[in-house]
Amino acid sequence: MHINMAITATEADIQQVMNKVKEVGLKPHITRGIGRSIITAVGGSCKDLETLKHAPGVEDVVAVSHPFKLVSRHAKSERTRVFVGDVCFGGDEAVVIAGPCSVESYEQLLTTARAVKAAGASMLRGGAYKPRTSPYDFQGLGVEALRLLHQVREETGLPVITEVMCTDDIEMICEYADMLQIGARNMQNFSLLRQLGQIDKPVLLKRGPSSTVKEWLLAAEYLLAGGNRNVVLCERGIKTFETEMRNTLDLGGMSLARSLSHLPVIADPSHGTGRRDLIKPASRAALAAGADGLIIEVHPSPEHALSDGAQSLNLEEFASVMNSLSEPIRTVTRAHAVSA
Ligand code: PEP
Ligand code: MN
Repeated sequence: MHINMAITATEADIQQVMNKVKEVGLKPHITRGIGRSIITAVGGSCKDLETLKHAPGVEDVVAVSHPFKLVSRHAKSERTRVFVGDVCFGGDEAVVIAGPCSVESYEQLLTTARAVKAAGASMLRGGAYKPRTSPYDFQGLGVEALRLLHQVREETGLPVITEVMCTDDIEMICEYADMLQIGARNMQNFSLLRQLGQIDKPVLLKRGPSSTVKEWLLAAEYLLAGGNRNVVLCERGIKTFETEMRNTLDLGGMSLARSLSHLPVIADPSHGTGRRDLIKPASRAALAAGADGLIIEVHPSPEHALSDGAQSLNLEEFASVMNSLSEPIRTVTRAHAVSA
């Protein structure tokens, strides 16, 4: 149930409503918007809250018929902005995160970081713990990769994002990274979601390869229900009957998530297609469809990459993709999508 507070509501009015929600055994989540606040009561039957309609400072009380109570636009009409340092997801500018699939060495990471920064990327990606289909494939450098990410972050000023695969690693990864990625395969790892709901770092939640938009938003709901509001969604392609591409980048699903939710949504054209020749058109299409940003795999020598070489761009190709994201696509077209 959403309890919409009036613009004139005082702090005392808000507290009174929060207390009443707790009294009937539910959990209140407050979203403070520009001007007015919305209190969302979750965790059970809201029948006993009907009377709040008449409480001081309350404008109206609305039953929530959809399952994503906190991530939906009904809980917050303004778009959420997620800050990673100075980088803002969900603002007027699209954010580009770029870097190797896996961190392989200091030179590989630093060379990539400098090049992607020069081309206009504002964050660096790099896997330390890799979810690989085969146990015999490269699994990532682990802590050593985290140290390298941190070192290159200090040298270039680029905030870094890396994937967390299990709850045991959360604390350590938080020491090194600015943002944590929940990989597609872990989108419904509920213990991971619950614990990441309690950290104070922003989280990038990738869509599972076989997940519906509803399941994806419900996974985000776990994070918000745990108290972490700094969540960015990422469409990274889903399984379809298509075999020429690794996945099918679902831009319809991305747009749907963006219209149902106030959270920023970015696209991953690398995993979304699995082919480096499709990164440029897929990136342009995603931004034109309103994506709040992109995450792209880049490697100084993709043919030697230890993971995902076929979908990684070399440094020149990445610069060319960035140049193709012309101003009209980056600002005008996107701005239109934002206000739609
Ligand atoms: C990755 O970002 O390298 C990755 C493994 O992504 P996904 O979880 O989308 O497959
Ligand atoms: Mn990858």
